[in-house]
Amino acid sequence: KLDGRGTYRFFEPEMDARMQARRKLELDMRQALARREFQLHYQPQLQLQSGALSGCEALIRWHHPERGLVSPLDFIPLAEEIGLIVPIGEWVIRQACRDAMTWPAHMSVAVNVSPAQFKSDRLVETIISALASSGLPARRLEVEITEGVLLQENEKTLQTLHRLRELGVRVSMDDFGTGYSSLSYLRSFPFDKIKIDRSFVKDLTSKPDGEAIIRAIAGLGKSLGMTTVAEGVETSEQMQRIRLEGCTDVQGYLISKPIPTEDLAQVFASYPQA
Ligand code: C2E
Ligand code: MG
Ligand code: MG
Ligand code: MG
Repeated sequence: KLDGRGTYRFFEPEMDARMQARRKLELDMRQALARREFQLHYQPQLQLQSGALSGCEALIRWHHPERGLVSPLDFIPLAEEIGLIVPIGEWVIRQACRDAMTWPAHMSVAVNVSPAQFKSDRLVETIISALASSGLPARRLEVEITEGVLLQENEKTLQTLHRLRELGVRVSMDDFGTGYSSLSYLRSFPFDKIKIDRSFVKDLTSKPDGEAIIRAIAGLGKSLGMTTVAEGVETSEQMQRIRLEGCTDVQGYLISKPIPTEDLAQVFASYPQA
């Protein structure tokens, strides 16, 4: 079954170029793990009150042999569709735990987990195993989910979230405010952290009343006892405004772009320890 060439011997003449490109990407992706073409970059989050970094988000990078760097936005959805996200996601979790063990002990690591990973039965076992073999304490691991995970909200999804919580793993709601019913999802599970989508951060300085939504979400987080992180903070003006509106943390190019773990030490050194 691994003989990709055999599988795609018969090209229908009407198959359009896009379909072919997609199949090629799919074949390449099936081999990318074994060929070690994936890498994790990390982007730190800053705690506004203490001025210390609290953790980093792991963001996957694919160094394609011919295409160069492929954005996760271009291959994660396909990986989801064909089920490859399960082994890829497992690699992400294991690598992120190992890397975080080399960081200062107060720094946590956040991994993005997509709907198909949540639906597979392996997620909790994978996390337990990754924590055990790396030695990372569960409280230093954070799982980021988007609305997509809760979209087909069922017993199993919630059960998985609660199992993670029982382990001591923290759970964040990513891209908050972009979906259809973000508010109702906050009701279904007591998230530790709300990550405010960067489109709202953009609006801060570009739209009249742009700060209203950020202020509302920050207030919501405060009442619910959740950390509120503003994503995509690029300017110090944005950071000032976000602080005023009551968010607890920021993440964005202003602090650092996502970078390899080897380069983090330099960033860590320029902030006070928590
Ligand atoms: P996300 O989880 O919402 O991650 C934040 C995205 O915003 C990242 O894009 C990051 O590089 C980008 N970003 C951070 N700060 C700034 C900023 O100041 N300005 C701008 N313009 N962008 C900023 P990236 O790395 O391309 O990842 C895109 C999405 O791909 C992620 O969105 C996440 O949904 C998904 N993704 C990335 N890595 C993984 C992974 O390991 N597993 C899964 N399932 N999904 C992943
Ligand atoms: Mg994320
Ligand atoms: Mg996000
Ligand atoms: Mg996103």
